[in-house]
Amino acid sequence: MTRLPILTPDSSPPSFYGLSRSTLGERLGGLGVPPYRADQIYTWVYRKHHRDAAGMTNLPSGLRERLTEVCGLSLPRVASVNSTSDDLTHKFVLELHDGARVESVSMRTARRLTFCISSQVGCALKCPFCATGLMGLQRNLQADEIVAQVIAMGDFHAWRDDRFNLVFMGMGEPLANYRAVVDAIRILHDPRGLNLGARRITVSTSGLVPQIHAFADEHLAVGLAVSLHATTDQLRDQLVPVNRRWPLAELLAAAREYGRRSGRRVTLEYTLLGGVNDGPEDADRLGRIARDLPSKINLIPYNPVPGLSWKRPSAADVDAFAQRLYPHAPAVTVRKTLGGEIWAACGQLGGLGPGA
Ligand code: SF4
Repeated sequence: MTRLPILTPDSSPPSFYGLSRSTLGERLGGLGVPPYRADQIYTWVYRKHHRDAAGMTNLPSGLRERLTEVCGLSLPRVASVNSTSDDLTHKFVLELHDGARVESVSMRTARRLTFCISSQVGCALKCPFCATGLMGLQRNLQADEIVAQVIAMGDFHAWRDDRFNLVFMGMGEPLANYRAVVDAIRILHDPRGLNLGARRITVSTSGLVPQIHAFADEHLAVGLAVSLHATTDQLRDQLVPVNRRWPLAELLAAAREYGRRSGRRVTLEYTLLGGVNDGPEDADRLGRIARDLPSKINLIPYNPVPGLSWKRPSAADVDAFAQRLYPHAPAVTVRKTLGGEIWAACGQLGGLGPGA
């Protein structure tokens, strides 16, 4: 077996949370340790939630002492956790090794616990209604920094929920950080680790068409959500500027193809901006799109961002829009706003509020 060099003099070991089980096994091989030890370490960390090697009692003491040569087990510091008054929604700010801050949100409803995680610090795509877009892109997250958000929220909830859903709908465009997002999904999906099922994971994209095709090729079968927000190229060019590169027809064709290959209905996310995209003709066009694409529609009444003048439509206008859609679209839901009071609602992640 080829022995991998564990460390060069000026390198530090990679984070455990970015290593697949097979890569961990290869690195352990560099110490002459058999690969099955990687399975045991995965179990300690992801199933028994141990955060240091000392308590991994079925590992030889020599390996416990030397594990830090193979990988680092430390996690980013949780800089703040802010909770809503009903204690159901929590916004987490993690401070990364370089001081960058990333935000994640856990949301509990009667039916499920959902973790909303980020893939980038900031975002380059500049959708003009979004707090993250206002930040610009600071940097991509590494796979371990994506996985660490899940661990931080799971630890906070003491892993009482054996099942939770995971959505890549926090800061950033996940498919613009393609490799790290796919690597993180594979790590989270590992049956010897958290074993998070593909049906529990959704990746949201604003419409990076080549990456949607590549994502289908990964055969992960996770859910895909498309941030549509407009039904004409003219309006979408303004609301989701990446539309100028890949217009609606290309995006919807890619979404249809992803749905066909994954066997999953695509989710169409539609943020309702009062007086902008919430008219009856918008609802009619959205209904036609949904009729041609196996999909479910998620309507998101806009969550205000300080300094931006977009308006949230009234509850009556949201209801009228949904009612107009129902006869044409097979599944329409109106997203309940969770976390608005702590600046944790959809579109509000971007250094707003206390602790951010
Ligand atoms: S809506 Fe999504 S893609 Fe658009 S700027 Fe915000 S984070 Fe980026």
